[in-house]
This record gives sequence, structure tokens and C-alpha cells, in this order.
Amino acid sequence: MGTGGTERFDKKINSMTYTLRGTILFILISASAFISGQDGQSIEVMTDGRSAGQMPVVIQGNVAFVPVSEITGHLGLRFFENKQKKKVVLSLGQRSVILTHRNPFIIVDKKAMQMPSPPLEMDGHMWIPLTYFIHATQDFFTQKLVFDPGSMVLNIQSAACNITDVQIESMKNGCLIHIKTGRTFGLQDIGLAVHQRWLNITIYGGSLDSTRLASEVRNGIIDKIVPKAFKNSAQIAFLCNQTILHKEVEVNSDEILIQLRTPVVSAESPAHNGASDRSRWLIDTIILDPGHGGRDPGAIGKSGTRESHINLKIALKLKAYMHSIMPDVKVLMTRDDDTFIGLRERTQFAIENRGKLFISIHADANTSSGVRGFSSYILGRSGSKIALEAAQKENSVIDLEDDPSAYQEFEGVAFIMNAIATNVYMKESENLARMVNETMKLRTGIPDRGVHQSRLYVLINYAMPTILIETAFLSNKYEERLLKTNSFQQKVAEAIGESIKQFKAVYEKGIG
Ligand SMILES: [Zn+2]
Repeated sequence: MGTGGTERFDKKINSMTYTLRGTILFILISASAFISGQDGQSIEVMTDGRSAGQMPVVIQGNVAFVPVSEITGHLGLRFFENKQKKKVVLSLGQRSVILTHRNPFIIVDKKAMQMPSPPLEMDGHMWIPLTYFIHATQDFFTQKLVFDPGSMVLNIQSAACNITDVQIESMKNGCLIHIKTGRTFGLQDIGLAVHQRWLNITIYGGSLDSTRLASEVRNGIIDKIVPKAFKNSAQIAFLCNQTILHKEVEVNSDEILIQLRTPVVSAESPAHNGASDRSRWLIDTIILDPGHGGRDPGAIGKSGTRESHINLKIALKLKAYMHSIMPDVKVLMTRDDDTFIGLRERTQFAIENRGKLFISIHADANTSSGVRGFSSYILGRSGSKIALEAAQKENSVIDLEDDPSAYQEFEGVAFIMNAIATNVYMKESENLARMVNETMKLRTGIPDRGVHQSRLYVLINYAMPTILIETAFLSNKYEERLLKTNSFQQKVAEAIGESIKQFKAVYEKGIG
């Protein structure tokens, strides 16, 4: 047996040349030398509890080997053998498993792993070590494979559906399709095709219950959803009532997100589509986002005031005030106590709760203690020095998150430009920010530092107008003192609340 056997590792494959990372000792052995005649032994194969026949087996050193061609038959994989290169390729859509005769490396979706035993070569056929093969490919199959060497039974269980729901979120110039998934898919698992007004999405390794997902939705640009289940993939077709100009797919841990862009529908048009459409645009749910929290205190004032505490106090006062002046509007908070919440979770919370406005509340800080005033931010290119400082300060929380690497994609300029280009609520966000600044100036009397565009991650939100407010400076002695008082917190809350009410009136007048 090879030593260092059960250790799994990832490595880059460079034109099929293995470059070992770390020090892993492995010994290739010529397995055929061990084979002794064990004719007639077999494994019972059960599929979902029903017998699906027998499979020949050879036991060598307590390891059960089965012919690779037999197992692929049971799993519905495509099988290709390159006799010259002594390789076997098993494929499922665009995904593949590559095995080499007498070589312990198994390549699953371009990721190499080492099995404790290499496949055997007998009579020119490849026999694979069943238990190790199952272990290496556990994320590959939709089915669950369990082999019991004691009873010599291989159980193949069809997976429960890993595509659980489809949600459509309408926007002015398109929509977001959320395909909720029970496992994480890779971009390579997803095929997108447009045929006239049909958008077809194929998800390799996806399984769904077509009776449950089928629906005659009439939601924005989507008229119909037709799901189809295939043996190793799932397909969902969407019938659109407009031309699809642009499509984009993104995968998250529990969903596949597809963004469709159609010709821009003018702001007035929802009014022509009847009452139900009008209600879709009403500002009936507002998300308040007190910045920071928990292990992330945000800025800290000279006398130790934590930004996270101030943000929460203002947000709670704002929620109460909005309830008194707009009792019909639902106000939700991304946090209502001192807990840590990641930036993406905040946005996700807003989208899941179908928020119509997102207001992130912060307090500012500067290395120069003389700097004071309030400012508002919308997503943009970070032109000004003020905007750059805000981005540095408010984005730094990412380092405290469980998986900072999840934000890597954000660092690309192309990504941010795209986020800005596809943000259909830019104008609305800016209008709201201006109203907030106007009212803040009147109500609090502290200096107005303006409305800025900035690359703030928490503002990346395609679904609703989104702003971030820096209320005052904790690094300024006078403003820190103000921020700590109930009366100033209340003034700020009322200023923001009144701006939202004013914005809501103007916006809703525009739609009908
Ligand atoms: Zn902050």
C-alpha cells in the first residue's frame, strides 16, 4: 500500500504534469502482482432499496476493487477509455472524473486527489478501489453511494432535490432570478442559453421536482417557468415577455443567481400595468442597517464611544419614529443588538425581505480631530478623497469576516464598474441621499460634507435604492459628545425619517 495514503490535497494541474505542494510521500506499486484468482465473487447493488443486480469484485489487501465500466453503468455516467494513455474518463455534463491505470491520483473536476490504492489493471480493464473512489467523488455525484464491505452491498441512493425553489425579483430593466440550491454549484455546472424569448438554464448535477417548481408566474418580465428533471442534470426554462439584452450568472453557497437585463422600462410605465404592478413599486418595507456590531466596533471615539453602539441607538430611534409617522410601512433592521453581521449578509437580508429602501447608518472618524460634519454615500467610483476614506473605513470590516476571500471578486475594477452600470436605482439613491443631507442640515445644524459616490461594498445592491449615512465624527470631541446624547440621536433619527417620508411621497407619485 502507498503510505501517506488517506491524505487529501488540492493542487494545480499543469498540462497533466503533477506538481506536488507540500511533502507527501507516495509510492506507486504495481498492483497486478497482488491479484490472485478470486473468481465468482460479487457485490450486490441496491438502488433506492431495490436490487439493481450484481457487480464482480476482487478483494486485495482488504480493499474491494470493481470494474470501472460496471459502476459507471449504475451511475449513468458517460465512459471513455484512452487505451494508449491508460486513462479512463467518466463524465457528467461538463464535469469529469479521470482515472489512470495503476496511478493513485484521481482527478475530480480538475482537482487531483490521492487514493490510498491505485486502480488495478486486469485483462486490460480498469478495476477501482470502491471505498476510496466513493470517498474521492462524494461531491461529484447527485446520488449518495454507500458501500458496506461486511455485507458486500453497494447502496445507491437518489439524491433528495438539490434545487429547492425559484424566486424572481423584478427590477426596472430586468430581473434577478434566485435559484435556491441545497448544495453549492460551480459556474462550470451551469449552462445558459437564450432561444428567442426563452432562457434555458441547465444545471449539471442538479435535481429538482418538476411538479413542485412549475408555475405560471406573471412576475415582471417572466411569464412562465418550466422545470425539467433529467437523470444527471436539471433544466429550468424561463419565458420572458421582453428581449433579453444581457445575462449574467453568479453562484453563492445556497443559490444560483441570474441577472437578466432587458430594455429599460421608463419610471412611469409601472403605472400603466395596473394596481398589482403599482403595489410592487410602493415603498412598503424599509431596511435599516446599523453599521458594525459585535467583534467589529467600527470607529472608536476619544472617550471610548463605540460607533457600533451609536449606530444601533440611532437606528432604533429611527425605527420608532418611522412607526409613528408612517405606521403602514414595515421597518426591518439587519441587527437589533450588538452582534456581528457580514456585509453580504446585510444585503442578502434586505433582498430576502423584499426591502424597497436600504439605509446604512454609521458614525464617522478621521485622523484629524478637527474634521466634523455629516455625509451621505451612494455606490460609485470613489472619485473624491472623502469617498476614498469612507471606503477604506467602512470596507475594513471584511477582514473580520469568516471568509474575507469571498470579497475578492469585488476588488476587480470591472466588477465594481459593472455593479455601477447595472444599478438601476442610482438616481433614486442619489435623490434620497440629497434629501437626507438637506434635512440633516436643517435639523442638526452640523456641517454638510455632501453626497459622495464611493466603492462601499454594503451599497452593492441591485434590488433597491441604497444609501449610507455618516452621521457625525466620533474623532471630533464636540461631535462625539453630541453623538452620545439621546437628544442628538433623536434629532438625527427624525431627520432621516422625515427624508424617507418625503422621498417615499415623491417616488410613489412618480409611479402612478
Ligand atoms: Zn462605520
